[in-house]
Amino acid sequence: MSPSIGLPPPTPETCLVTSRVSRFKGGTLIDDDVRDLETHAIRVRDPDGYRPCRCPRCGHGVLHVHCYPERHPRGELGLPAVVRIVQYVCAAAECGATWRILPRFLARHLWRAWKTVERVVMPAGMPRSAAAPPIPPRTEQRWRTRFAASARMLVVLLAASGGVALEALASSVSLDASRAELTAAHAEVARVAPSARLATLAELVHRLERGLRLM
Ligand SMILES: [Zn+2]
Repeated sequence: MSPSIGLPPPTPETCLVTSRVSRFKGGTLIDDDVRDLETHAIRVRDPDGYRPCRCPRCGHGVLHVHCYPERHPRGELGLPAVVRIVQYVCAAAECGATWRILPRFLARHLWRAWKTVERVVMPAGMPRSAAAPPIPPRTEQRWRTRFAASARMLVVLLAASGGVALEALASSVSLDASRAELTAAHAEVARVAPSARLATLAELVHRLERGLRLM
């Protein structure tokens, strides 16, 4: 039996619960529609492919392609060593916010595809990938620790989201739920298939409060 049974899950690291809405001019947006590399490649090639219809900071309707930052997702077969993403800049002179657009399948800040992380922390139901490169044990341990941490702030965020389904989800899990428990509950309620459970909830959380992280 786990010695922690009966105790609330530990507090998450600060980086997981720090909002970036007001502290930063611009930031990262996640495109929930882009779930594979092929779709992403098509969208990146087209300057309009990922272009937001308005600036999330000031509402201005014109954004230009600014640059193509690189992401280096490690350890996922089928993903190249370098994935280019698009960064746009708001054309309003008094704003100038820049927005990087991430496809849903890439995890913010983790240098990985979400699938890679899910295979470690939520292996049940995941397709086997015997050829997947090994993950360093310390990385796996860090992910497990984060997944076991308290989801309290995320539960409160979902409860306050104004969406009936999300409020129902939030009331179905305890305030002392871990991130693992919240992810499992969300996958069940929203009928999310294995391979997409972390990516879907992470995108939702980031959309509701930019900067908050599932992992
Ligand atoms: Zn703007």
